Amino acid sequence: MTDKKIRFETEVIHAGYHQDEHNGSLVPPLYQSSTFTFQNAEQGEKRFSGLEDGYIYSRLGNPTVKILEERIAALEKGDAALAFASGMAAVSAVLSDLTKTGDHILCSQGIYGCTFGLLQLFKEKYEITHDFSAMDSPETLYKEIQSNTAVIYIETPINPTMKLIDLEMVVKVAEEKGIPVVVDNTFSSPYLQTPLTKGCDVVIHSATKFICGHGDVIAGLVIGKKEWIQHVARTTQKDMGGIISPFDAWLLLRGLKTLPVRMDRHSDNARKLFDFLRKHPKIDTIYYPGDQEHPDYHIMQKQMRQPGGMISFSVKGTKKTAQQFMNQLQLIKIAVSLGDAESLIQHPATMTHAVVPEEERRKMGIEDTLLRLSVGLEAWEDIKEDLEQALEKI
Ligand SMILES: *Cc1c(COP(=O)(O)O)cnc(C)c1O
Repeated sequence: MTDKKIRFETEVIHAGYHQDEHNGSLVPPLYQSSTFTFQNAEQGEKRFSGLEDGYIYSRLGNPTVKILEERIAALEKGDAALAFASGMAAVSAVLSDLTKTGDHILCSQGIYGCTFGLLQLFKEKYEITHDFSAMDSPETLYKEIQSNTAVIYIETPINPTMKLIDLEMVVKVAEEKGIPVVVDNTFSSPYLQTPLTKGCDVVIHSATKFICGHGDVIAGLVIGKKEWIQHVARTTQKDMGGIISPFDAWLLLRGLKTLPVRMDRHSDNARKLFDFLRKHPKIDTIYYPGDQEHPDYHIMQKQMRQPGGMISFSVKGTKKTAQQFMNQLQLIKIAVSLGDAESLIQHPATMTHAVVPEEERRKMGIEDTLLRLSVGLEAWEDIKEDLEQALEKI
């Protein structure tokens, strides 16, 4: 490939890989090796001192992993990237790097359950405090940013209530205050939304989800400015050690090739299912960023290519009704995670957000009757018929 600007759909297949550097192998080879041999002692010395580029040991870098990192950096429009063993390894490396004892983190209202757990841990062990913010206007931000706020941490769409945050609006305030903005972009993937192009500083992914797309890998990614990424590689990543395995990186490179095709189908299916669910008498509320009556619909239009493949809805009744409904489903599987070929449903109040105290949960809008559906790639009619038959039985 030449360096001419190529389009996203081409980059998912080609970015970061040059066949001529790998014996012409069409697809990236899997370097399933823990360490790399030096030609002589002097070469080893030069590699360690940084005088010579090259691989040393797979926790410090691996050629298969490197291809993945270059590819995701290109897709997110960043300078550089790092791959991790899990989304949470990525989140913890980023937040450990950007904070120190006494700092404060301002978070979007509603974050991934384990990120919430990590913030609790930070508070108890390191006196790093946090607050949740609606981030719905500059005024809110000015009021809630403290003198010790070291990071603004955002999920948009927010899991599971699908509220959106206007990234450009947040960046404007954050820049003025000199605070880095970190976005967990797991729900959108770079096909739907690229926060770095809105001025955000760091993007995190649980690559386990849409980026992998096939439900067979747990992994995380971090994308940002080159110098900062190199610093994280030398510190929190190297020394805390949450690195990805070469095989998982290889699977992600394979999954990524179909990201745009998959996201189009996830989004199409979700749109059609939303139309079905919204008219159904047994459905109470429904949260979907493609809903024209969604209060944040204008933000979706502004910063997302499509509304994506996630729908949350509550059934009329109680927690028991929601559980009965889940138990009637046949095609749709009961499981946490998202972004897979298979449609998955889960009950946030007792599953992904069970660690969040009830009062906090209610503030986030997570009622006991709320369900989160990750719309798969099956024929949408089959997903609809499964929902329909289960709704009939409650
Ligand atoms: C799954 C998820 C994570 C955590 O990722 P793992 O790969 O499971 O460690 C973080 N953020 C969001 C939004 C997620 O959905």
